[in-house]
Amino acid sequence: MSVRAFYHPTQAAHDPLQYMRVGRVIAPKDVPARIEALLGALRSLDIAPEKPSADYADARAAVHTKGFLHFLETAWDRWQQLPEHGPEVWPNTFPYWSGRPEDAARPDCPAEHIIAQAGWYLGDLSVPMGPHTWLSVRESSNTAIAAADAIRSGPKPQVPSPPMAYALCRPSGHHTRADRASGFCYVNNTAAVAQRLRATFKRVAILDVDAHHGDGTQQIFYARPDVLTISIHADPRNYYPFFTGYANEVGIGDGAGVNLNLPLAHGSTGAVMFTAVDRAAEAIRAFGADALVVALGFDAHARDPLGVLKLESPDFGGIGTRVKALGLPTVIVQEGGYAVDALTDCLSSFLDGVR
Ligand SMILES: [Zn+2]
Repeated sequence: MSVRAFYHPTQAAHDPLQYMRVGRVIAPKDVPARIEALLGALRSLDIAPEKPSADYADARAAVHTKGFLHFLETAWDRWQQLPEHGPEVWPNTFPYWSGRPEDAARPDCPAEHIIAQAGWYLGDLSVPMGPHTWLSVRESSNTAIAAADAIRSGPKPQVPSPPMAYALCRPSGHHTRADRASGFCYVNNTAAVAQRLRATFKRVAILDVDAHHGDGTQQIFYARPDVLTISIHADPRNYYPFFTGYANEVGIGDGAGVNLNLPLAHGSTGAVMFTAVDRAAEAIRAFGADALVVALGFDAHARDPLGVLKLESPDFGGIGTRVKALGLPTVIVQEGGYAVDALTDCLSSFLDGVR
């Protein structure tokens, strides 16, 4: 099976300076070098990435609030007008949020000041915004939507080889709720892809294998019966994003029973991950999904600097073969993974598995 890949070079321009970790401002982990490592995997497999050719503002607006997107687009310029401003848009207010998964998006921020809006729309201290952040975020989301459209217009009939596309997205997206960025994520690419696919496919499943719970994606679809969200991640009791990702979060209203969280014990290896992916595959089949979005993070790798799981690079190939076995039109969206020297092998293994 062939895999098309998408990437826009402007995604490398986002080069964050600051990240708050354990009471200290340190250098961020989402470095542009991650992109080179991921491109290296595509080169090794002779896959030439295609560049998105349009700006899909409508696809972003389909999963995010108007106020949030306006903030992302204008924050840098407005920050420049503040006296004695620091090098990046970085919040110092945090309006109360209950932490409960059933909370819907809030209304747009009632205050106009950039300091107020930074607190309202940036949920933690891992999403600083520099001069190029919005451009990279925009092209990251465009990359994801180009991949979605590639499988929507793929060859038919889609049997025996359903179309598959990989979106090399950076910054990532799965922590971003409808109205709030967090965890290195600004626009939720995975959610935007799932929503885009709904125009063509009746039932879409999301399988998130990033080491962190896909909390933003969960929130966006929490009350929706047409998009199954599954996240396999390290147990959040002692791991970011902490407040969601528990097994008892199953969706609400029409979406009840259409959200599945599979938290893994810290230290889990590939074998444990495979058991969880097999369980997820059962749920995807039972749901009757006719398209799949894989939120693919590599921070479950044993050498990840932010990681607590113990997968090795070839284990991502095992996830890939299970994805292939589902036989669905699939968009693979890049999420996290910060062990830069492992990323080439992780992505090569995964794509070898799905091909
Ligand atoms: Zn992650």
